[in-house]
Amino acid sequence: MTTSSVGFVADELCFWHDPGNYALVLQPGGWVEPYNRHIENPDPKRRLLNLLATSGLLRQLTAIEARDATLAELERLHLPAYVARVQALARAGGGDTGVGAPITRNGWDAARRSAGCALAAVDAVMQGRAQAAYALTRPPGHHAEPDQGMGFCVFANAALAAEHAMASFGVKRVAIVDWDVHFGNGTQKCFEQRRDVLAISIHQQAGYLQVRGEADEIGSGAGLGYSLNVPLPPGCGFGAYRDAFERIVVPALDAYAPELIIVACGYDAGRMDPLGRMLLDGVAFRDMTERVQDAARRHANGRLVFTHEGGYCPVSVPFFGLAVLERLSGRRTDVACPFTAQHDRIPGQALQDHQRALVDDLAARFEDVRQRHWP
Ligand SMILES: [Zn+2]
Repeated sequence: MTTSSVGFVADELCFWHDPGNYALVLQPGGWVEPYNRHIENPDPKRRLLNLLATSGLLRQLTAIEARDATLAELERLHLPAYVARVQALARAGGGDTGVGAPITRNGWDAARRSAGCALAAVDAVMQGRAQAAYALTRPPGHHAEPDQGMGFCVFANAALAAEHAMASFGVKRVAIVDWDVHFGNGTQKCFEQRRDVLAISIHQQAGYLQVRGEADEIGSGAGLGYSLNVPLPPGCGFGAYRDAFERIVVPALDAYAPELIIVACGYDAGRMDPLGRMLLDGVAFRDMTERVQDAARRHANGRLVFTHEGGYCPVSVPFFGLAVLERLSGRRTDVACPFTAQHDRIPGQALQDHQRALVDDLAARFEDVRQRHWP
């Protein structure tokens, strides 16, 4: 494993983002006792930063300074009326920016800083200060649509990062690989009519009921064939993800030959996650990272940007995030992941017949889409 320079950007203000008084995802009231803990709270991401520091890995990453996304940068993909609404909501004390994406008084500041972290990561990679970069974005972004927040996401961090690379650095083709356990509907919405971004989402089927993310959603107009959804059944482990990467995700990246790859990196397909029903651990997160890194080396001069999306288990997310950053940087720490240590004893890590049959079907479908719609 060769080492490579990896940039890292985080900002304390992102940890101060406060979705307000929720009982996990529900508003207290009626039969729901107040709990005052939204499930999207700072713990998983803050504890990842702490583990990076205590393990010593953080010192070996290239520090990238956080910044705010400007109004113009946000309005490249979001409607000005929506951006103004987020500002006004925060000023008024808070509220829902759309469908399940609540903010309080500091929501505007935190959300544009979060988007700014993703943009700063792109700056670092495109300017050659780092080969790859990781943005510890919070609030997350991949559910946010041009005209509304959704699913804890206020601004579309990964999509804004792609747009920034194209608008500011002349990149012609970007691939976004979204392995958060939930469908990246916001990213798809931003680019579904364009072919300069290949939006790939691998997720738990019907894992987020407000949106679909089925395989028949393939984009439209000029973007027909350039949205690629891989909906997997609950219970998938390393074997199913590896099969889907080998037979769908990596071939799509190789056929598209992006000049930059962006990973919408959620950890909620992790085995302990309360909002996902998958079985992944450090073995899978390391493997998926290696595959996108190899694809980036083949096509994009190694240019790779990660934006941190979901992942709600405060104890396991730090280990999985460390695995990603170890793999990216080619450096191992002394940290032993207690969840990965149990990998071989977890039934369902191996590829199951019904999963293989589904990947067969999806791979054939995407091959057909490519034949029909790609040059
Ligand atoms: Zn998620």
